[in-house]
Amino acid sequence: TATTFYDSDADLSLIQGRTVAVIGYGSQGHAHALSLRDCGVDVRVGLAEGSSSRTKAEAEGLRVVDVATAAAEADLIMILVPDQVQAEVYDRAIAANLQDGDALFFAHGFNVRYGYITAPDGVDVALVAPKGPGHVVRREFEAGRGVPALVAVEQDASGQARDLALAYAKGIGGTRAGVIETTFTEETESDLFGEQAVLCGGASQLVQYGFETLVEAGYQPEIAYFEVLHELKLIVDLMVEGGLAKQRWSISDTAEFGDYVSGPRVIDPRVKENMKAVLGDIQSGAFARRFMDDQKAGAPEFARLRRQAEQHPIEQTGRHLRQMFAWLKDSDDDYTEGTAA
Ligand code: NDP
Ligand code: MG
Ligand code: MG
Repeated sequence: TATTFYDSDADLSLIQGRTVAVIGYGSQGHAHALSLRDCGVDVRVGLAEGSSSRTKAEAEGLRVVDVATAAAEADLIMILVPDQVQAEVYDRAIAANLQDGDALFFAHGFNVRYGYITAPDGVDVALVAPKGPGHVVRREFEAGRGVPALVAVEQDASGQARDLALAYAKGIGGTRAGVIETTFTEETESDLFGEQAVLCGGASQLVQYGFETLVEAGYQPEIAYFEVLHELKLIVDLMVEGGLAKQRWSISDTAEFGDYVSGPRVIDPRVKENMKAVLGDIQSGAFARRFMDDQKAGAPEFARLRRQAEQHPIEQTGRHLRQMFAWLKDSDDDYTEGTAA
């Protein structure tokens, strides 16, 4: 079983003794900066000139400076800008401001695993990856709880990198819930695989095929939407609470029997072969290269795929039907229907 750490395994004074720069103030950035600050850590936020996040961070009383200044002042730099811009931000504003004894932290191993960022030998390189969106990380911290996190050490120049990572995890509430040790390679590859094969790619495609199958057979799109998309959340909530068994315990016997009989017909062994091929592209770096090369070219493939996905008929039906759910309207995130691009 995995090595797990809790509050008593982490020494907050290690992070309280550091000068921390949180680069980026988005989903993860705001949660880390605010919770570390609440733990008495000396935090500054590094943002580009003219960044739209600036007013939000300043409204919380955080000190906001440009990325190079933040990196120069700090001896622990947590990079929380989007993965595809990290290497450019690192090369331009961080690399020259790293000294021996500094620590470079990440919340996802992508850039280190695929060689887009390589820190100097004298610098600790570690990962603290909360297993939840930043807004939940912050909400749980404020409630006196925490979101579980992963920690990993890629480069241990100080001999203290793991303790420092655990202290950081404690400062954002992670050790209240439990922190599991991993490696940059395992975290990166398993994270990419999970989101591509199951959580995002797999689930989205499954929902779309289910919707198409019903609608093409003459069922009303609204009914199809309820059955293959809306109710998914109810099932997933049960899985999270008690695994596949609790889901099967809660549903009707009819549904449970159909699960056993038809699940393996829909998701047959060929799907597992496809998953292995997806994993192969993640392990070889082919996926990372395709994503980053497209980003460098101005993301034409990404834009085309996004436009195409938005045009699927299930999105039209969903926009209309979601008006019926009063509670879906008071979500506190920044997402607006139809403006994902
Ligand atoms: P976000 O997309 O929310 O980060 C946006 C922030 O980065 C904004 O403050 C934005 O500023 C800033 N930014 C964007 N481009 C630049 C740039 N070129 N220079 C300086 N600042 C820039 O990122 P996430 O929080 O989603 O992800 C951060 C890291 O955390 C990633 O490594 C991700 O994989 C990881 N992670 C994310 C999770 C999540 O749930 N979101 C979960 C676990 C890990 P502006 O306002 O100017 O746009
Ligand atoms: Mg991910
Ligand atoms: Mg039903």
